[in-house]
Amino acid sequence: MSAPIPITRVSQSRLTEALRENSEFGATFSDHMLVADWEAGSWKHPQIVPFGPISFSPALTPFHYGQAIFEGFKAHRIPNDRVALFRPRENFVRLNRSAARLAMPGIPEPLFLQGVTELVRLDRDWIPHREGGALYVRPTYFGIDDTLLVRPANRFRLIVMTCPVGPYFAQPIRLLAEERYVRAFPGGTGDSKAAGNYAGGFHNVLWLDGVERRYVEESGVMNVFFVLDGKAITPPLSGTILPGVTRDSALTLLREMGISAEERQIPIDEILSAHAAGKLTEAFGAGTAAIVAPIACIRYRDRDLQFSAVADSSVAARLRSRLVAIQTGREPDKHNWLLPV
Ligand SMILES: *Cc1c(COP(=O)(O)O)cnc(C)c1O
Repeated sequence: MSAPIPITRVSQSRLTEALRENSEFGATFSDHMLVADWEAGSWKHPQIVPFGPISFSPALTPFHYGQAIFEGFKAHRIPNDRVALFRPRENFVRLNRSAARLAMPGIPEPLFLQGVTELVRLDRDWIPHREGGALYVRPTYFGIDDTLLVRPANRFRLIVMTCPVGPYFAQPIRLLAEERYVRAFPGGTGDSKAAGNYAGGFHNVLWLDGVERRYVEESGVMNVFFVLDGKAITPPLSGTILPGVTRDSALTLLREMGISAEERQIPIDEILSAHAAGKLTEAFGAGTAAIVAPIACIRYRDRDLQFSAVADSSVAARLRSRLVAIQTGREPDKHNWLLPV
């Protein structure tokens, strides 16, 4: 461990029970944030300070050229009044992969993990007690040059903020399979958590591949799974899909539950015909924010593919309760996924 990170505490916490338990996803921020700057080849004094506005030049790099990436993972309450992060090292590794893709300097592991751990420890009272509640940890990392020169920035800032949240979707979701616009294409940044990937402004879209508009890729904030002939299938990590930590956890847990889980290309035509033949029994999304989110309907061209209401016996419901049980320490952490803070 490196030296302790200096902390400037808020003079008075904004925490209330209503903010902690009832906030809309991502709309409430806890008291503190972690801030660290990179300049001239090294990281300068990371600090924890009160959460609040920051001021920048209108020429700031991400406003013009999009050099900005982010991450998302959660801290949960576990038994004996303790708290654990779920697989934060995976997010650290993915953040640095995204950074390399966007020509940004790597972040040292001790800075990231120690910073996040101290931040969550400091604001642990903000973690909801309600079922499915968690403290969402949102790192954002961006260039902070104030020049319009088109080049990678010379200075960068990492900020980590946290939000008390419940599940992203309260109800089973409806997705539109999009044929005209695409999220990603081979050689692009689809497998990075780059801010620009979300600039198209779509809500609840099921993306198809950027070349043929034929294969299912993923949804806005989650990877997708289908249950076909009793098997779970999800598209492979082809370079255009975000490699979700929840997707990876789901593949492991499904196999442990005795459900065969395959990664393979899924043509949208196969989804239509399997649905018509009654072989496609479930569709669900998997992501940190959404956890495991049942899909009620997929619209493709002029057709609505409906999926029956989720039963407790569904693959999605069983997977979700298994995952949440591990995250909240109610089931043994066989895979070493929890990092207690
Ligand atoms: C973050 C994200 C996911 C889910 O990744 P997790 O690590 O499971 O949270 C899936 N797709 C996209 C496009 C994402 O941005």
